Amino acid sequence: MRKTAIVTGGSRGIGFAIARQLMMDGYSVAILDINSPSDYRHNLDQLAEMGEDAFLYVQGDVRCAQDREHLIKETVDKFGGIHVLVNNAGIAPRVRRDLLEMTEESFDEVIATNTKGPLFLTQLVVKQMLKQGFCGKKRGTIVNISSLSAEVSSINRGEYCISKAGLSMLTTLLADRLAPEGILVHEVRPGIIATDMTMPVKAKYDALFEQGLLPINRWGTPEDIANAVSALVSDKFLYTTGCYVNVDGGLHIKRL
Ligand code: NAP
Repeated sequence: MRKTAIVTGGSRGIGFAIARQLMMDGYSVAILDINSPSDYRHNLDQLAEMGEDAFLYVQGDVRCAQDREHLIKETVDKFGGIHVLVNNAGIAPRVRRDLLEMTEESFDEVIATNTKGPLFLTQLVVKQMLKQGFCGKKRGTIVNISSLSAEVSSINRGEYCISKAGLSMLTTLLADRLAPEGILVHEVRPGIIATDMTMPVKAKYDALFEQGLLPINRWGTPEDIANAVSALVSDKFLYTTGCYVNVDGGLHIKRL
């Protein structure tokens, strides 16, 4: 039986690479993304070419309850069930401001997208998974794409750090609650990955790489993250839940 995965924020960047990898792994994939399908047509065409019947694009906002419900309905109507959810959609603050200047508006926007949206989307997905039987050795898998910022302080984007620390606790809570149901929960913490999100700070990181910033001293790629997700949702991690994997070139290592 062909399994189904939902990937949020899959029209570009890391989410697109995850969607493509999961399709290569044999999943049917539904993407929820705020962009119009025409915005990243080239990417979506690539996915459709991998299997028109195995691909669904739902334009919607992970912050919006109605859009989340619409996604579940469309996915189940087309594919019959849901086996994997990758909570990938995320935003950085529109403006990086010192912690003392952070606005409530920015805090609310970042938390709603990176933490609250994933929480309530996961609720819906899990309720659907619970209606389904086991598919192989588990009922389903949730993967949260957080960040090294779940742990590392950046005082000019505190709302992002708080949102990812919250997502990390969500990983722990879901893992605890869902293990008896046969649903495993994992977290991937990307480091510095070359996507549109990091293009505004490209020059800064290029200079740091020249000084030997990382043990594996290069930009990470969306494919680095997609490969980790592919392994975690497979049957290779059946005795693991509530853990995070750093995919960061060793950035988390404290060095002298
Ligand atoms: P990206 O290039 O900005 O892509 C994110 C995608 O999510 C975009 O298509 C975006 O739409 C969509 N999105 C944004 N808000 C949404 C919403 N409310 N509902 C539905 N879709 C929404 O980001 P990325 O670099 O691939 O990052 C993906 C994830 O990895 C994020 O959670 C990010 O925090 C995390 N991460 C990234 C890095 C990095 O170095 N890139 C490092 C650590 C963690 P728009 O095009 O309209 O924005």
